[in-house]
This record gives sequence, structure tokens and C-alpha cells, in this order.
Amino acid sequence: MDFSLNKDQILLQETIKNFVEKEVKPKAKNWDEKEEVPLDVIKKLGDMGIMGMSVSHDYDGSGLDMISTALVIEELAKGDGSLALTIAAHSGLACGHISRFGSEEQKKKYLPDIASGKKLGGWALTEPGSGSDASALKTKAVKNGNDWILNGTKMFITNATVGETFTVLASTEPEKKQKGITAFILEKGDKGFKAGKKLEKMGMRSSDTGELILEDVKIPDTRRLGNINEGFINTLMMLDKGRIGIGALSLGLAEGALEESLKYVNQRETFGKLLKEHQAIDFMLADMKVEIEAAKLLIMRAASLADAGKPYTLEASIAKLYASEMAMRVCTKAIQIHGGYGYTREFPVERMLRDAKLCEIGEGTSEIQRLVISREMLK
Ligand SMILES: Cc1cc2nc3c(=O)[nH]c(=O)nc-3n(C[C@H](O)[C@H](O)[C@H](O)COP(=O)(O)OP(=O)(O)OC[C@H]3O[C@@H](n4cnc5c(N)ncnc54)[C@H](O)[C@@H]3O)c2cc1C
Repeated sequence: MDFSLNKDQILLQETIKNFVEKEVKPKAKNWDEKEEVPLDVIKKLGDMGIMGMSVSHDYDGSGLDMISTALVIEELAKGDGSLALTIAAHSGLACGHISRFGSEEQKKKYLPDIASGKKLGGWALTEPGSGSDASALKTKAVKNGNDWILNGTKMFITNATVGETFTVLASTEPEKKQKGITAFILEKGDKGFKAGKKLEKMGMRSSDTGELILEDVKIPDTRRLGNINEGFINTLMMLDKGRIGIGALSLGLAEGALEESLKYVNQRETFGKLLKEHQAIDFMLADMKVEIEAAKLLIMRAASLADAGKPYTLEASIAKLYASEMAMRVCTKAIQIHGGYGYTREFPVERMLRDAKLCEIGEGTSEIQRLVISREMLK
């Protein structure tokens, strides 16, 4: 397989790299400490077309392919994992679900505002009592004439308190379990729909994560997203792409940690030599590089298959699993190379490790990836 980037992809990668150097790296520590979503930077990314990566030009998006999308997320994550997560959830899941399964009317109504970054979007599947076992969700949507009445609580939702347009998965025929789940579009301002508690997290602290509360939210059938009872099967398709995104995010974090380590080994001296002159340190750098390159190939393979319209469930899971666990190993080594300073907040590697842990949990934990991979093999 040929994974060389085309001219547009190289230009996009360079543009995001420069943006991250100037607008993200110098500020990421402060955002993490304040646990604040950098809405000003998101606005700038919106002007650059990044918030609408998964949306076609017809609805004010930039219609990027999956390889380009992965490149953007990777570059953003080199500077700040939280920003990359905010954008991956907004663009991949929130915009993606409406783009892929919305009616023409819904696309015209909702996509331009979220694709331009004027409004942030969210995507709500997880609940307090159901994450990995998503089909056990309890949020209910009951048909009432031409309307639906929704009740329930969603948990761990990215952009819950800052987002305005949400895709919400609810049970429409509970006895059918995953074959009885439907997606709906909800907007902040809908009566009975509000954000609950904002969660205090270990990492990804400047990405907003919180609860969404639905109390007798009445919406017309025109807000139903996709066919009745097809929400879960559509969700699985969304998650395949999302997993490539989280793989790319993991890759960017690991590359960021390696870059920091390469800088540090050229500055710090022990026993009268620079760190880079100790072979034990160089071997750690070599191992980090090998793992990063392996993850990059897995992500490119999954993204290329997605772009070619071929099946890629297995490849996306493999890429996500390997890249997220690799990011934890690489960030741990980066801290080891930095010694005591690596354990302080003075250097970004400690933040990168905290951020990397999320990648083993979000969009399907490592255990769920192993389930998907083994099931695909045993089919
Ligand atoms: C920062 C953050 C952002 C998130 N953003 C979103 C979002 O935007 N939208 C959204 O819908 N969700 C979101 N999530 C939720 C995320 O997808 C879930 O946390 C994740 O799927 C795991 O679910 P859980 O937390 O309920 O863990 P559980 O499902 O309770 O799992 C607990 C442990 O048991 C393991 N486990 C569970 N079942 C099995 C099994 N069958 N075999 C082996 N091991 C198993 C899991 O791997 C895990 O180690 C986010 C989570 C976080 C932390």
C-alpha cells in the first residue's frame, strides 16, 4: 500500500503544524490549568474550515477525506490533546452523524452553523449506567402524535456545557435492545434539555466533559436523525471513523512527547555528558520512534481503507488499540527521560501522559477494541 501524502494533504499538514506552534503550544499549559475550552482558538479553526472537516462543501464544510482528518487531529494533539479531542468529537461525531444520516432538510438547517464553528456540537450515547454496553442505555423517546418525548441522563459527553447542537441516542423500543435505538437532534434551548455537572478530570482538562439532562423534552419528528430503530447500527459506523480519530490523537500525543524528549536530551547533562550521550537514553528514544512509526502505518491503513470505501472496522480498532496503548508507553518513557522535571507541570510531558490515558477509554476502551478485533477474526 502506498501511504504517500498528496500535495493538498502536505499543505494542510504544514498549515496546522504552523498554527499549533503559534496558537496552541504556548497556551496549552494555561488552558489545562484553568480547565477552559479555548473558544477563541476554536473560532480561528472554524475560519480555517477545520470545524467542518467531515461536512461537504454543500453545507459549508471542508469535505476532507479521512487521511486529511487524521493528519489534522494528529497535528493538533502534538500541541494539545484536549483541543484535538474537542475537535474530534465535534467534527467526527456531532457533524459526522448529521452529515451521514441526516435528511436534506436537517443538513441544511444544522450543518452550516456547526461546520463553520459558530456553534459547537456534541454526540451523546454514554449514560451513567451504560458505556461499553451502550445498548443498555435507559434514555427513552416515546412517540406522542407527531412529536417525541425524551427523558434520561447522558454522561461523559464532550462539549456538554459549551455545545449547542447535540445528537442524542435514545431507546424507542426497549424490548428490542440495540435494535430499538434511535438518534435525535437536540438543541440547547429546547425546553427540558440542559447540561448537568461539568466533570473534573485527570487529563483532557481543557476539553469540556459533562452530563446532559433530558426532562420531558418534546421535539417534532423532523428532529429524528435517521430511521427509527437504526440509531445503534448507525452509531457503530460512526465509531469506526471515530476510532481512527482517537488513534490519530494518540499518535500526535506520542509524537509531541518524543519531540519534547529530543529537545531535553540535548540540554540536560549528567555525569559530564549530555543525556543524548547515554546509550540507555538513546535506546528509549529508538523504542519510542519505532512504536510511533508502527502506529502511523496502522492509522494510515485504516484511513486509506475508509477513503477507498472498503470495510475498515477491524483496521480502525487495531489502529486505535495499538496507538492509544503506544501513547501511554511513549509518554511514560518521555517522563522517565525528563527525570524529576518530567514529573512536574513545568514540562508538557506530564500533561501528555494524563491526556493519553483517555485514549485507552474513549470511543471504546482497550478491552472493547480487543472484543471487536477478536470477533472480526472469528467471524
Ligand atoms: C473525557 C471523556 C470524553 C468522553 N466523550 C464522550 C462523548 O462525547 N460521547 C459519549 O457518548 N461518550 C463519551 N465518553 C464515554 C466513553 O466512551 C466511555 O467512558 C467508555 O466507552 C467506557 O464506558 P464506561 O466509562 O461506562 O466504562 P464501563 O463500560 O463501565 O467499563 C469499565 C471497565 O470494564 C471493562 N469492560 C466493560 N465491558 C467489558 C467486557 N465485555 N469485557 C471486558 N471488559 C469490559 C471496560 O473496558 C473498562 O475497563 C467520554 C469519556 C470520557 C472519559
